Amino acid sequence: MSAKGVKCLDRGRGSRYSWVVTKLQRNGDEVVRQQQGRGHQPSAPWRWSEYLAQVGVLEFVTRWAGHALVLILIGAALWFLRQSDLPRLLALQPQPQVALAAEMGEATPAPSAEQTVSLPPWKPAAPAAQGVARKISLRTDVPSRPREKVIQYTVQKGDTVFGIAEKFGLQPETILWSNYDVLADDPHRLRPGQKLNILPVDGTYYQWHKGDSLRVVAKFFGVSPEEIVDFPANDLPPDTDPDHPQIKAGTWLVVPGGHRQFVSWSAPQIPRSNPAVASILGPGSCGKVYEGPIGTGTFIWPTTLHYLSGYDYSPQINHYGIDIAGKLGYPVYAVDSGVVVYAGWNNWGYGNVVVIDHGNGWQSLYAHLSRILVSCGQAVYQGDMIGSIGSTGRSTGPHLHFELRHEKYGKVNPWNFLP
Ligand SMILES: [Zn+2]
Repeated sequence: MSAKGVKCLDRGRGSRYSWVVTKLQRNGDEVVRQQQGRGHQPSAPWRWSEYLAQVGVLEFVTRWAGHALVLILIGAALWFLRQSDLPRLLALQPQPQVALAAEMGEATPAPSAEQTVSLPPWKPAAPAAQGVARKISLRTDVPSRPREKVIQYTVQKGDTVFGIAEKFGLQPETILWSNYDVLADDPHRLRPGQKLNILPVDGTYYQWHKGDSLRVVAKFFGVSPEEIVDFPANDLPPDTDPDHPQIKAGTWLVVPGGHRQFVSWSAPQIPRSNPAVASILGPGSCGKVYEGPIGTGTFIWPTTLHYLSGYDYSPQINHYGIDIAGKLGYPVYAVDSGVVVYAGWNNWGYGNVVVIDHGNGWQSLYAHLSRILVSCGQAVYQGDMIGSIGSTGRSTGPHLHFELRHEKYGKVNPWNFLP
């Protein structure tokens, strides 16, 4: 088909549609006849030339009307830009040459008139509706610049190891590691009024002893000697010899990034075949070999309330049990059947303690009891009342410190095993 033909077809779009409509209105025979007869009509060429002449004129008019419309639109757009804020907005774009000059230490050119346009009044962005909002802590002690020195913090009422750590942007274990003299690696020892060391960074805090080797100390905490020497708070000369450092005995050193094992005060596994291993724990230890019920392997809750009041299971702060809520005198139940292998006072802060060996690898521990209703070697069955909730030992209020230990897996998270 020729170019002209294409043009015709385009031009004829409207008429083609009307032709289709007409075609639909006619019956099939007529349409076929019209299509067949089209090329045979003697007057057709004449009509076509007349028609094309008309179309030529039409085309001319249409084309120029289109050009005029485009010109009008361009004019309108230019007028709109003049009236609008666009030039002002363009003037607010960063001026790269000014920034570069400043960077190179050259005198910054005086701002031009374009740069000193006044900004529209600031409007706060709409608050993000989703997400957990954090309350602003009015007691925060976090300085605007990183601290370089160790500071002291006085424990307030209601503080926890986690709370203090968060307040200073530290990991909770750092609070324990840097305050062994006060807390002895036991978060239950935290009391209002205590003075705690707050390190400038996460790590450990070590008091230098006569004859210590910096290399050995660094290795113990899992860092290099240079990390200790280079840390500003330690005030050590840069040429300090790791093997023979001139450090005065009694000096405290920050070990940035240092870590260590916690000292464990809790009972070891106390087998019914040898409950005397717990004798170091205190007067509650039992002495003989016991026989008794074997546990079912499933557990019930040791208390009437089933939520926390104190620390959760947190190996990070050497807390391998859960502090379950309860009031003074509330019952404490055996979580499974077994034999009592510890019943009495614990010298390490647990107060009155009962430990039950379930005979299947599991043991359960109940601490801070106000009273104990069972004795060494006694057979107990799941659900038996073995004592009452109290606040004996290092405890800030009545609650049950409960631990669940397996001979293979150690002290597990009770939440994973209680119903
Ligand atoms: Zn506890």
